[in-house]
Amino acid sequence: MPGRVLPTFTSAEVQSHNTADSCYITLGRNVYDVTDFLDAHPGGGDLILEYGGKDTTEILKDEISHEHSEAAYEILDDYHIGFVGEATPGKTATIVETVTETENGPIYASTGMSRAEDLSVDTDYTQDFKTHKFLDLNKPLLMQLWRSNFSKEFYLEQIHRPRHYRGGESAPLFGNFLEPLSKTSWYVVPIVWLPPVFYLLSVGAAGLGTSTAAAYFTGGLCLWTLIEYLMHRFLFHIDGWLPDNRVGLTLHFLLHGIHHYLPMDKYRLVMPPTLFVALAAPFYKLAHAVFFYNWYAAVSVFCGGVFGYICYDLTHYFLHHRKLPSYYQSLKKYHLEHHFADYENGFGVTSRFWDRIFGTELVTPPPKGAKAQ
Ligand SMILES: [Zn+2]
Ligand SMILES: [Zn+2]
Ligand SMILES: [Zn+2]
Repeated sequence: MPGRVLPTFTSAEVQSHNTADSCYITLGRNVYDVTDFLDAHPGGGDLILEYGGKDTTEILKDEISHEHSEAAYEILDDYHIGFVGEATPGKTATIVETVTETENGPIYASTGMSRAEDLSVDTDYTQDFKTHKFLDLNKPLLMQLWRSNFSKEFYLEQIHRPRHYRGGESAPLFGNFLEPLSKTSWYVVPIVWLPPVFYLLSVGAAGLGTSTAAAYFTGGLCLWTLIEYLMHRFLFHIDGWLPDNRVGLTLHFLLHGIHHYLPMDKYRLVMPPTLFVALAAPFYKLAHAVFFYNWYAAVSVFCGGVFGYICYDLTHYFLHHRKLPSYYQSLKKYHLEHHFADYENGFGVTSRFWDRIFGTELVTPPPKGAKAQ
């Protein structure tokens, strides 16, 4: 479904269309030519003319003066002609439309997007901040969130609306010397974790014999796929049980929130080694509790699990950032749908297997507004 390509207007251009002969209004960045609608407006054409060339976000929401229904916004869509751009006169840049348009397929109410490509359209930070009053991408994010007093409900609603920062660069998190610590390149994962996995596995093989150790390792690998599913569904998207305070929200942001907020950020995608150690430690204990009868067995299973994790994190990265062969292409589509369409389904990243078993397989496109949001 290719999006309509609509032109970008300068603010001055929009402001000059303020008469009955040609009347433009804006709603955020969207520009509407409502000239033909003036006579049809239930509140009278003059009311609109008052806002000719101006933004109507506030007045449309203002219940005292003039309440507008969902239907009003739908009517407005028919008059959508473009976007307000940064003031660069003379330049007629174009931008791919990302707004509701039935021929273009559904727009997902919870994310505000309709296609995977929307994930890579730069956010207008200033406008985004004005519209949503969430985080200002011009400033370091972490302290904003910490000091914000956002309610959990608002935080979760906003965090699942993807933004895109400067063509995929990393938005400032700390804004100081700690900044590099917030970034992890994808290749850190295999470099740090493959050597200990092979070392421990060789220890396991020495204690158990190669084929037995291989069997435990494979078992651990299969177990990983389930852990991957359960962690993504119940820990990363803990939404319902997330503590409604700044500690809870900030931790969630660092764990998975930032990946949904800025899904195409290359350096905030794979797990930093420190976080991995914290999450893996309980599983190391668990492996030894379950396979208490043989230390080597426990270690071999654990190695299989960690190897599964490495495959998962690399797969996740490549799904976001590489062109892939056909099997992975459909997996890519599936995972990106988790981002732009329905974050409450599609938790499997390396396969859909557990989504099918547990009934959370992502099916698109659900009709607009089908999800209670
Ligand atoms: Zn979530
Ligand atoms: Zn992702
Ligand atoms: Zn997710």
